[in-house]
Amino acid sequence: PQYEEPKETRRADVTYDDIGGLGDTVDQVREMVELPLRHPELFQRLGIDPPKGVLLYGPPGTGKTLLARAVANECEAQFYHIAGPEIMGKHYGESEQRLRDVFTEAQRNAPSIIFIDEIDSIAPKRENVQGEVERRIVAQLLTLMDGLEPRQNIVVMGATNRREAIDEALRRPGRFDREIIIGVPDQDGRREVLAIHTRGMPLTEDVDLDEVARVTYGFVGADLSALAREAAMERLRKILPDINLKDGIPADVLESLRVSREDFLGALKRVQPSALREIMIQV
Ligand code: ATP
Repeated sequence: PQYEEPKETRRADVTYDDIGGLGDTVDQVREMVELPLRHPELFQRLGIDPPKGVLLYGPPGTGKTLLARAVANECEAQFYHIAGPEIMGKHYGESEQRLRDVFTEAQRNAPSIIFIDEIDSIAPKRENVQGEVERRIVAQLLTLMDGLEPRQNIVVMGATNRREAIDEALRRPGRFDREIIIGVPDQDGRREVLAIHTRGMPLTEDVDLDEVARVTYGFVGADLSALAREAAMERLRKILPDINLKDGIPADVLESLRVSREDFLGALKRVQPSALREIMIQV
């Protein structure tokens, strides 16, 4: 069967400007991925092999997928997204076949980035859980990566929340031998992410993103994005009683629509940092 890319990944139009709070991590990724994809001749000239595999690790929602998409887009590479758990097929050999299909497509359309999300789910440590299927998938992935030639212009990026949970064989030289941590943003980082997610959002003057950044300790990018969205929804709920949904929205109402500090405070009551949510579920 032909590998079919999920629709949402067909257009990877995310840019580096859409990523906030990762500091020089973006530069590290550019050096490891963009440079070899754009200018393989530099590596050739110096007689070194460019990296084949880069592992992004860090808590959920910090921007690993976003970063991989941005790099692909910025270096005009094809982007292939493999969701770890989803590649598990029901039938014998199906998962390996899917992996092979992706690699074949990526080679045909190079330069390409193959992004494997939740890689720990398909390549867990052997002594841990590995059943028959996982063993075969790991073996297949290793074979495919070992078979990639530097001049083929393909970089495989893996993402995981638990670096220590993946099979060590995957982290050997020539495989995922570069690792980049994508951490939880600090206050300045949160401020940057908030600025990105309120870019297209008219705000009243009393909204102080520094203040919002200060009170959102523990929020990751995905949480801050949810917070901004929720603040806008707060505003919408407030104007709803004044408008007749059957009619068009009057131009002046639309024009004066702005998200306020109060809306953000309201949103803060609804949106919790995802790390905290996980703890609460465990308790
Ligand atoms: P997971 O491990 O759950 O797949 P992830 O690290 O891949 O998480 P993303 O899927 O990249 O996280 O993030 C989800 C969404 O959260 C992004 O589409 C974006 O809207 C927002 N987001 C996350 N991190 C950032 C960031 N650093 N800057 C701006 N937005 C971010």
